[in-house]
Amino acid sequence: MSELSERFETHEPGEARAGEKLRCDACPVMCYIAEGRTGACDRYGNFGGRIVRSDPVTILEHRVETGGELVSFAGEGEWDGNPVNPTRRFVTGIGSGTTYPDFKPAPFIVAQEVEGVDLVTVVTEGIFSYCGVKVKIDTDRHIGSETAIVRAQGEPVGHVTTAEYGSQMLSLGGVRHLTGGSKSEGRVTCDTMLALCNKQAVELTIDDGSTIIVQAGQPPVIDGTVEHRMRVGCGSATIGMFATQWQGLVDEVVVVDDHITGVVSEHQAGKVIDWAETGIKILGRRSTPGRYFKVSEPGLGWGGTTIADPLEILGPWNPKKGARPGLSLLMVSTTGEQFAYYELDDALTPVAKPFPDRLRKSVDLIEDNCEPALCTVLFMGGAGGSLRAGVTENPVNLTRSVQRLQTYVTCGGAPVYVWPGGGITLMVDVMRLPDNAFGYVPTPALVAPIEFTLRRDHYEQLGGYASAVRSVDDVLAEGGEYFNPREAKPAPDANPWPLSQQLRRERG
Ligand code: SF4
Repeated sequence: MSELSERFETHEPGEARAGEKLRCDACPVMCYIAEGRTGACDRYGNFGGRIVRSDPVTILEHRVETGGELVSFAGEGEWDGNPVNPTRRFVTGIGSGTTYPDFKPAPFIVAQEVEGVDLVTVVTEGIFSYCGVKVKIDTDRHIGSETAIVRAQGEPVGHVTTAEYGSQMLSLGGVRHLTGGSKSEGRVTCDTMLALCNKQAVELTIDDGSTIIVQAGQPPVIDGTVEHRMRVGCGSATIGMFATQWQGLVDEVVVVDDHITGVVSEHQAGKVIDWAETGIKILGRRSTPGRYFKVSEPGLGWGGTTIADPLEILGPWNPKKGARPGLSLLMVSTTGEQFAYYELDDALTPVAKPFPDRLRKSVDLIEDNCEPALCTVLFMGGAGGSLRAGVTENPVNLTRSVQRLQTYVTCGGAPVYVWPGGGITLMVDVMRLPDNAFGYVPTPALVAPIEFTLRRDHYEQLGGYASAVRSVDDVLAEGGEYFNPREAKPAPDANPWPLSQQLRRERG
């Protein structure tokens, strides 16, 4: 029993052939597949009487970088003007297949010589039944309370986690939702993560919160409204940034924000430029001068509050401290999307007035300083012992090699962040992978490409499968044991060629 099959209802492996059907052994489901059909995950099929991986192995061709240290290598000859350099190939795990259970070498172990250094890349598609997805949604709006359940198709698939600066964060997937709940919960969690990782749009609802359409690299749609801007900072930071621009144009500025509402006349930024007192009173919890918490509950209004009318947060004006008829007041949100202008009347009550042109530039400046609001999706998974066993006969050696930075890890050729501490726990921005790089198996688990690149002598030292090492040309010509075609694609521009990254480390 392997770590995967122990946790799922699977059938005994049985014969490799049952009647006209062939058994796929790439995951614990062990489908029997009829000729011309694919198995439960659509990744493998029975074609021509053999089990075939149905997507091509993806080989990335990296562009020729101009300038910098990555000029043409010696021996490559004159550049022929083609911006894609076919000598900078990288065999990815996309379409490579799995070796499950991993008692045998990974599907491709590819050697390439780079500037006189022999490098080996071990390529596989990992089955991640413990994986999750972290979603960053750039918005000020309150989408739900921390720890609130996030649902897809009515099933719980994750929760709201700690908000970060200018963004709401979701944690989706993980083993509890994948395998710890009902079958439907596991299936929907897997579908949701797969769609998000493959850059598709997913509708999520938060208990007692919003309904959000999330798609990697796209603005979030919150309760039907497309979010455009990520705030420039909290209310206090906004005061700090723009106080000098407002001086002389208006008597008071309040930046309304759910986290910290700022008041220029009281704020340190106002004090240092001798901003005059105005006798304003904010109904909130004063933190430090000019900085107020809890002016409202979190919501969909001004600056992520529930406020539709910003005057709600003002108390009586104090004439002894500077309040006077005609005093001018600008109220603005942290994205500059909401703004209003008032003047005090004879009873010291703010009265809305047409927005003056002289202030428009400073409000536009706040908007201009806001970045576009996006959804960011990070796939997070741990390369467990079973996967590592496809790389080396002594799996812990791979972990140590990764932690020593001797082995460079990529997902579909994209750089990953490897967490410190035990194991090989990694995160990758799905936007950096080629499209449709992720798959699934109905155990349920996500399938993600993963590659390990290291020096050949290091690979042999850590107990790697030396006899399974092949050249990239041989892989291109012959393919692998799953008989699928090879497909060359230009690598995404933002990704460095993984072999050059490893070379730099070696020389570092
Ligand atoms: S679900 Fe896919 S990988 Fe698993 S046995 Fe069936 S065809 Fe093979």
